[in-house]
Amino acid sequence: MGDGTVGIVEMVRWLELFQSEIAAHRAWLTDLDSAIGDADHGANMDRGMTAVGAKLAAGAPGTFGDLFKSVGMTLVTSVGGASGPLYGTFFMRLGMAQGAAAEVDAAGLGAALRAGLGGVVARGKAELGDKTMVDAMTPALEAYEAAVANGAGAGAAARAAASAAKAGRDATVPLVARKGRASYLGERSAGHMDPGSASTLLLFESLAEAIAEE
Ligand code: ADP
Ligand code: MG
Repeated sequence: MGDGTVGIVEMVRWLELFQSEIAAHRAWLTDLDSAIGDADHGANMDRGMTAVGAKLAAGAPGTFGDLFKSVGMTLVTSVGGASGPLYGTFFMRLGMAQGAAAEVDAAGLGAALRAGLGGVVARGKAELGDKTMVDAMTPALEAYEAAVANGAGAGAAARAAASAAKAGRDATVPLVARKGRASYLGERSAGHMDPGSASTLLLFESLAEAIAEE
C-alpha cells in the first residue's frame, strides 16, 4: 500500500512468493531432510503450498482471520509430516491475532507473527537450540520487534527478520537435534542444517519481498 500498512493484497503476495520459493527450493529442502530425516520436507512443503496457492487462486478472503485460517487449515490437512501442523498452526494463530482486520501496521504485523511463533512452540514444544524451525523463527521475531521499536516500517523490519532467520538457520548446523525425526539420530544429527529452519528463512525472505515498500 505504500502507507506503512500491510493489507490482504500484500499478505496474498507473501503467500504466493513463499509458494514459489518452496517450489524452487523443493529438491534442496528434501536433500537437507535426507541427511537427518526422511527426505520429504521439500515435497511436504511444496504439496501444502501448492494447495494453498490453488485455494488463493479461487479468491482470497477479506480479513486476516479468514485468510490465514484458510491457509493454516489447508496446510494441516494437505501435509502429512510434522511441518504441516506446525506451519498450519503458525498461520492459524497469526490470523486469529488480527481477526477482523483487513490491514495492520508494522507493530500489528509483528504481534501476529509473534502469535504464530507462539503457536508453533505450543504445538511442537521445541525450545531455542533444539535444531528446529523455532531456531530461525525466534531470532527473526526478535529482530522484527527490535526494528519496529526503533521506528522501522514493516518492510525494513521484515528485512531485519530475514537476516536474523538466516543466522538462526545457519546456527542449526552444529546442533544436536532434540525434537522431531532428526532427534532419533542423536549426535549424528550434528553437522547438518535443519530443513525446517531453511524453509523458515524462505518464509521471512518472501515476507520481506512482499512488503518491501511498506
Ligand atoms: P517430518 O519430520 O514429519 O518428516 P518434515 O520433514 O516436513 O516433517 O519437517 C521436518 C522439520 O519440522 C524439521 O526440520 C524441524 O524444523 C521441524 N520440526 C519437527 N519437529 C518439530 C517440533 N517439535 N517443533 C518445531 N519444529 C519441528
Ligand atoms: Mg521429513
